[in-house]
Amino acid sequence: MRRTAVPLLFEDSRPGRRTMRTPGADLEAARQGLPAAELRSKQVAWPELGELDLVRHFTRLSQRNFAITTNFYPLGSCTMKYNPVVHESLAAQPTWTGLHPLQDDNSVQGALRLLHDLAADLGAATGLPGVTLHPAAGAHGELTALMVLRAWLDEQGQNQRRTILIPDSAHGTNPASCTLAGFRVVTVRSNEQGLTDMDDLRAHLGADTAGMMITNPNTLGLFEENIAEICQLVHDAGGKVYMDGANFNAIMGVARPGDFGIDMMHLNLHKTMSTPHGGGGPGAGPICVHQDLAKYLPAPTVVCSQGKYRLRIPEASIGRVRAFHGNFLVLLRAYAYIKRLGAKGIRRVAENAVLNANYLRVRLQDAWRVPYNRICMHEFVARPTKAMRDQGMHTLDVAKRLIELGYHPPTVYFPLVVPEAIMAEPTETESKETLDGFIEAMLQVAAEALAGEEALHQAPRNMPVTRVDEAKAVKQPQLRHPRHDSEE
Ligand SMILES: *Cc1c(COP(=O)(O)O)cnc(C)c1O
Repeated sequence: MRRTAVPLLFEDSRPGRRTMRTPGADLEAARQGLPAAELRSKQVAWPELGELDLVRHFTRLSQRNFAITTNFYPLGSCTMKYNPVVHESLAAQPTWTGLHPLQDDNSVQGALRLLHDLAADLGAATGLPGVTLHPAAGAHGELTALMVLRAWLDEQGQNQRRTILIPDSAHGTNPASCTLAGFRVVTVRSNEQGLTDMDDLRAHLGADTAGMMITNPNTLGLFEENIAEICQLVHDAGGKVYMDGANFNAIMGVARPGDFGIDMMHLNLHKTMSTPHGGGGPGAGPICVHQDLAKYLPAPTVVCSQGKYRLRIPEASIGRVRAFHGNFLVLLRAYAYIKRLGAKGIRRVAENAVLNANYLRVRLQDAWRVPYNRICMHEFVARPTKAMRDQGMHTLDVAKRLIELGYHPPTVYFPLVVPEAIMAEPTETESKETLDGFIEAMLQVAAEALAGEEALHQAPRNMPVTRVDEAKAVKQPQLRHPRHDSEE
């Protein structure tokens, strides 16, 4: 069924229609005293609709939403898993939403305890006990940690160390955060196994090394097996190791980064711990650091003494990175998530996330090319086979065809180390039936691509907006409806 576009409210407008009528205001009286130049010469063309048409308009729009609550959403690296509804209702309780961040500490002991205990739980789960909950997203956590690193380097009298090593498979936010924090980025190659190339790493370590940023499991969905040795090498060279922990869903409850030598990391609570995301926020990207670095963390942190929770400014704090305490209601969902699952449940999440990804990988490995085809963690990367590419089929065609079949496409063209990449992360919350349905769809698309079906180039055909010219959309963005342009 082809879905048609929802008309704009302006297009459905009919003169004189109203949802309700208010007693007329005295416009003439209101105009008095306003400078003439500021007065409009003609009436604003607000849309005019009856209430039922208005309600239908917004209801239809809401149904155009593609979400984890409507369809399977295996968007690699984004951990689009189910967020339990009960956490939403907890976060909506007036007990929490009615709090004010400037209230006296004594009147918000419960909220401070929640922050304190969540930080302690995250510290225990990562093996890195210094925790700040302030950063508002993963990338913000990266930046915060790099500022902590700078503070540490400065205190050591080592501020000539300004180079950060980053593997070529890194998430784009890593080099961006480095640049923003005033560091230089040097890229380290991956080897044929999709892991950090140890020789290339050794070759780049030196007196200017401030540290390394490494994603583990990496963006190929592989666990960096040499991580302990990597940390040792960077430490011996005088640097610190930052782990991009956005993929923590794959290892939580199983491995603690502090144990394998990581000094600092961030967590994406909105990915891993129960906050709906994908629309741009709000999120939470706490960072966890080795205790030697805790004194530099942003201010304030919550401490507990004699049963009282209080705010404290760490001794050598880098200052504030966010108003008040971060996104409290996101932190609350993460707290609820941890308490409901417990340590065993958290471990099972990771185990099932890995199991589901491997199930998909093995079922798809014959029809699709899986370049680093070995046991993966929470996600894996596939690509069209040579025979498909010989038919002129690209990953973009595959992604658009999946939309027609009711699936959100996996992440495409990332990581950059795999050309035509298709990166799928099923997460632990999907049933075997859902995974089987997706596998069927992927096998069907593979067959169509091999047969060189022209229709693939036009997909998606059953959507209000069909194939767009993506390059043109970036180069000539049209951000206003033409109707408004013609009115001025
Ligand atoms: C999502 C992600 C980030 C960025 O997190 P945001 O919360 O979107 O800022 C960083 N690194 C990796 C590997 C990610 O998957």
